[in-house]
Amino acid sequence: MTRREFTRKSAIIGAGLAVSNFVPFKGTMSVRNNELNVTIPMPIQIVIDDVGWWSGEDGNKRQEPYRTGISRNHVPADYQAIVDLGIKLGVRPQAATILCEWDRENILRNLPTSTWMREKWDNSKWVGAWLDEAADIIRNNQNHFELTMHGIAHEYWQDENFTRAEWADRSGQMRPLDQVELHLDYYEKLLDQNQLGPFPTSFVPTAFLHGFGLTGAHKISMAEVIKKRGINYINTPFYSMYNAEAAQFGIFGIDSGVITVDRGEDLLHWDDFGKKPGGVLTGPTCGLHWPNLLHPDPSRNSEIVDSWVKLLKPYNDKPETMLARNSSSFRNQLVHHVCTKVQNRGDQIDINFLETNKMKDQLSNNKLTVKIESERKLTFISDDLKISDSITSHEKGIYLYNLEIDRIKDLEKAVVKIEAS
Ligand SMILES: [Zn+2]
Repeated sequence: MTRREFTRKSAIIGAGLAVSNFVPFKGTMSVRNNELNVTIPMPIQIVIDDVGWWSGEDGNKRQEPYRTGISRNHVPADYQAIVDLGIKLGVRPQAATILCEWDRENILRNLPTSTWMREKWDNSKWVGAWLDEAADIIRNNQNHFELTMHGIAHEYWQDENFTRAEWADRSGQMRPLDQVELHLDYYEKLLDQNQLGPFPTSFVPTAFLHGFGLTGAHKISMAEVIKKRGINYINTPFYSMYNAEAAQFGIFGIDSGVITVDRGEDLLHWDDFGKKPGGVLTGPTCGLHWPNLLHPDPSRNSEIVDSWVKLLKPYNDKPETMLARNSSSFRNQLVHHVCTKVQNRGDQIDINFLETNKMKDQLSNNKLTVKIESERKLTFISDDLKISDSITSHEKGIYLYNLEIDRIKDLEKAVVKIEAS
């Protein structure tokens, strides 16, 4: 086939993609008759809550935290399960971590609102070799374990009784600012005690109680408070977030410069334990709670991990989704998925970065992924962009291409030329 013929035959339907606000992913568009399907796939990130407890006991009836609600204590193998999930999928799951049971020096006595024992806090029963073993797993697997801030002990003790939750009350109103700052100070002290690395850059509010923007009489938002500590990413379900309607982009909003992403609904219940997952993800977050990844017998954790791998891996092979390698690439790709427009025109793909460029503060690098389905074997070239392509799959006569794009120049528009190969 000559170049000209190819060009003529590949008159193409555009796939100018915009936000897919929790509409379940569309099925693969027809790519018959030499049409192409071009998408900026939605990135998916795994977020695992309530990591960090050593006791698994649900203590809520005794004014203690729910913890993970499992029938055994946690062990270092439970951390390895997170790392193994990350290795097997080539991703870096976020472990939203609770740190009170890592307190080797009982410093939380000085912060009575942070635990059920208040001034009498005593964590000596949870100080042991397992702390170093788990810390080693976290430190040695940085590419497959992101320590995300969850909280100190998950709730807020105003007196003898716990109240939900640590960072905000039931209406999403931020706790008193001086207390929030102290909880952040002590979270950092606990990280330091255990050499768990620098302060996290991401945050999952406990009990998903959080307000977008200002709450109550506060003159500063929670997002701004934690931004000062280096956090640049909040993940929480919008169904329980105060003022969620102010989130500007549907599946995410920018609050004092901090991207806040809708977690949506989890596939499993928070205390499902030893159960293989099922169901379909409908948004960018694959949210789970730690028990959802574990087995009652820790030596069999891999059975549950493998069932998550089986469930999640296919999202890499769909034109409309991809598994994000880490938080940074997740945020980049999510902004592109929503703001960057792609369209086919003849033998080229037009990419428009106009809206994306307004979001520069949210982009940590110049990369994005575009996927293309075609019946034909193609090559892609661009004078505007650095691109590398690979074939992800070739099934039922359709090639799925992964185009890794590096925006070497600060452009509003770019062109990728398509040639038959
Ligand atoms: Zn939690």
